[in-house]
Amino acid sequence: MPSGSLYGHKCAVPDCNKVIDSKLLMCLRHWRQVPADLKVAVWRGYRAGMGPEYDVAVAAAVDAVLERNHA
Ligand SMILES: [Zn+2]
Repeated sequence: MPSGSLYGHKCAVPDCNKVIDSKLLMCLRHWRQVPADLKVAVWRGYRAGMGPEYDVAVAAAVDAVLERNHA
């Protein structure tokens, strides 16, 4: 598989190497662990053009997943 593929990127969770569709933030396994309110915040930021609000929401979502996995 070529690196730097145009068709996907890695899951936003640092420990996860799963390659996913570029429209998605995380692989399904991790996305399922994101609290509903943070999912809403991520989608809102994504639709708003992936600005600072999106970055904050993504960081919070990744933190939530890491907390669940390392608690
Ligand atoms: Zn993942």
